[in-house]
Amino acid sequence: MPTLVMKFGGTSVANLDRIARAAKRVALEVAKGYDVIVIVSAMSGKTNELVGWVNETSPLYDAREYDAVVSSGENVTAGLMALRLQEMDIPARSWQGWQVPLITNDAHGSARIVEIPSDNINKKFAEGMKVAVVAGFQGISPEGRITTLGRGGSDTTAVAFAAAFDAERCDIYTDVDGVYTTDPRISPKARKLEKISFEEMLELASLGAKVLQTRSVELAMRFNVKLRVLSSFDEPSDDAGTLVCAEEQIMESKAVAGVAYSRDEAKMTLVTIEDKPGIASKIFGTLAEAGVNVDMIVQNVSEQNYQGHAGGVTDMTFSCPIDQKMRAEKALNDAKEKGVLAFDRLEVETDVAKVSVVGIGMRSHAGVAAKMFKTLSDENINIKVIATSEIKISVLIDRKYMELAVQALHDAFELDKA
Ligand code: ADP
Ligand code: ASP
Ligand code: MG
Repeated sequence: MPTLVMKFGGTSVANLDRIARAAKRVALEVAKGYDVIVIVSAMSGKTNELVGWVNETSPLYDAREYDAVVSSGENVTAGLMALRLQEMDIPARSWQGWQVPLITNDAHGSARIVEIPSDNINKKFAEGMKVAVVAGFQGISPEGRITTLGRGGSDTTAVAFAAAFDAERCDIYTDVDGVYTTDPRISPKARKLEKISFEEMLELASLGAKVLQTRSVELAMRFNVKLRVLSSFDEPSDDAGTLVCAEEQIMESKAVAGVAYSRDEAKMTLVTIEDKPGIASKIFGTLAEAGVNVDMIVQNVSEQNYQGHAGGVTDMTFSCPIDQKMRAEKALNDAKEKGVLAFDRLEVETDVAKVSVVGIGMRSHAGVAAKMFKTLSDENINIKVIATSEIKISVLIDRKYMELAVQALHDAFELDKA
């Protein structure tokens, strides 16, 4: 039997009616002759609630216990989905990550998948089971502890299963009917894409477009998984949604394919550090050891220099995910106390956002950065930090201008036009 992976996100399993609706979709594929692996998320809002409980109990929590708590939302929906399918006379059972077992490393909170042995599930398929319902987002570490794959991780579970079971396709059912030129919730002019390349999707995802978890796109690209994003609310159709595929399969190559944003940024500046070899290495070594994912970095001329003080000092600014802000502060302040690092003070801004334009066409089109900066300047938006790569340009700006920036850039690059 050919295998199909179907993943249902939080809004698609938000209550019993939605689960029943999703189960009907699964039934349609079973009727076509597929063995189906269903990956479910927790009911929408559930994981946030669980994360909130952990933070309230222990702000600098033990990540192993964080995983024990936040993985639980998926257990509920997996069991309910299996029950619903059984009620429809479809042979189905649920699997928690450890039962499969989905083996990960021990990086709790953002674990990486090491292996998904297919024997257990295949044995059941051979015995007549039609649907394996797997709790997304979770796995088991080599030490036998429950792990989670990072927020949005059920997408990665789905793609990993598609690769491990050599599935014909991996369908990601969500609350939008595909991948858009930007988040349709921010820009009413956002246009649905029929296809998007792995590379562009990877950048958009890593820059904040949470429609797919970044690692799921990475995996799909590596194992050439046929990946489709579609809505669980629309009527079923064969050409629904957006296909994420290899670049060669796409004809159009505009300079910019999409605009992404991320609200979840914090900007930190170490004011007055020594300007000499080895300092950056100490700062970012300290942060890496504390598990902080540093994103953008700029080293600026210190106010001290401007004021005519003796040279030899500078300021270092970087951004990191807002939920790692406390870890970063603690690591830097501890290093200062221990005499490992010297700086005057640490300035932290949390009212910032990152806005990025992405496109493989940038490799061949000049002037994208100039157009982006002009567009922002026309809107009087100040740029705090800039980062670029071959196919993206990102800026850090005041959060209050985020929507405006996304819409202005969407207009400037004419993304509403095919
Ligand atoms: P799920 O719970 O199904 O995993 P998510 O909330 O994680 O759903 O992802 C879907 C959301 O991603 C959409 O509701 C939309 O607001 C957001 N999104 C951000 N950028 C894009 C984009 N470029 N295209 C489509 N959706 C996007
Ligand atoms: N429930 C988890 C989360 O909200 C995983 C997922 O839905 O993909 O992050
Ligand atoms: Mg998601």
